[in-house]
Amino acid sequence: MSTGILFLLVGVPTLFGALIVYDWIESHFSIFHLFGWKPIPYENAMQFHGVFPYVSISVVPFLYWVAVLFLVDLLYYWFHRLSHEINFLWGSHVTHHSSEQFNLAVSFRGGCFQRVFEYAFFMPLAFLGINWLMFLVAHRILKLYQFWVHTAAIPELGFLEYFMVTPSNHRVHHGRNPQYIDKNHGGIFIIWDRMFGTYEPEREKINYGITNQLQSFNPLWMTFHYYAQLWRETLATPSLKNKIKLWFAKPGWKPPELGPNEIVYSDPGRPDYDPPLARPAKLYGIVQFFAVSAAGLLAYSLAHDSAFGIGRLMILIGFTVYGLTVVGGILDSRSWVFPAELLRLVLIPLIAVIVHMSGFLEVELMLGVMGYCGVSLVALALLRKSFTGESGGDPSVLAA
Ligand SMILES: [Zn+2]
Ligand SMILES: [Zn+2]
Repeated sequence: MSTGILFLLVGVPTLFGALIVYDWIESHFSIFHLFGWKPIPYENAMQFHGVFPYVSISVVPFLYWVAVLFLVDLLYYWFHRLSHEINFLWGSHVTHHSSEQFNLAVSFRGGCFQRVFEYAFFMPLAFLGINWLMFLVAHRILKLYQFWVHTAAIPELGFLEYFMVTPSNHRVHHGRNPQYIDKNHGGIFIIWDRMFGTYEPEREKINYGITNQLQSFNPLWMTFHYYAQLWRETLATPSLKNKIKLWFAKPGWKPPELGPNEIVYSDPGRPDYDPPLARPAKLYGIVQFFAVSAAGLLAYSLAHDSAFGIGRLMILIGFTVYGLTVVGGILDSRSWVFPAELLRLVLIPLIAVIVHMSGFLEVELMLGVMGYCGVSLVALALLRKSFTGESGGDPSVLAA
């Protein structure tokens, strides 16, 4: 959920930036523009009425929308497949796969800047002259569709398994069993996997997650750990060719000087990551998660109000990221969380006063924030023995 909030905060400027570039390409360099062709109509594809048959279809725009949806799904298949097969793309996609449990929350879990690569990959549609609105709607339909397939509660779905992405074949996609790795990349239709040889049905019990267990709940580390590993390997490799190759190679590839070049499949019975943590500390972390998330969603809503100003917004976003990182540290039972949380609870009331004085926080809300931080400080002091920091010293300290 923390990575989902980071995704939301980074996603808005990414989307706007991408659409501006897309629209500029489409209106200056599309094949329709370059060859002076008449655009294909896409408006009023379906019209709804209050009388039978309730809906009327305009054939050309309707078929155009259907074609664009298939095209977006096909491009998504290749983008997703390459995100599994090229290191620098896998670094932004691994976040979606590091969960060892499989439920609807996994659909919110994603690398917050993966969309930069994803939108760049879709730019050829602008050259083809597909209007930005069609691209956006088709891409949104694809993303919305993917929500429901992240569940272990729905069994195989009979004939739908032949052509649709379903919970069953998407479970396979999240498996770390050797036969399930890099399979079933489809977004809406599974036909692309069947056509291009990456289809695998759900047979053996699935072990979810990635081969190298990510031992962290810290959203920043979840987002950047693979790039940190690539960077370490880049520095450790003397050969310039291999330094560059690392970023474009398949995950699992290593320069020969860094050890044996093979994927190490993890133990199927490997226990899920679950660090030692006293129940009160866990409860404290979860309560703080909801408080920080509320601040994050506030930042998200304020992003639309230009009067709030970019400076204040960045502070709010910065504190959201800081808060989610500390929550991750609490749940990871790290040794650094106690001072980090103390600092957070002291700084927030000060910031609330400043924001209040500049007219963006009503006095009742300011007092509410101060009261909440006061209660949290008391709870933190009472629970200090629960923050044992038993798994301290992990690399996620670097990410914090
Ligand atoms: Zn994937
Ligand atoms: Zn997924």
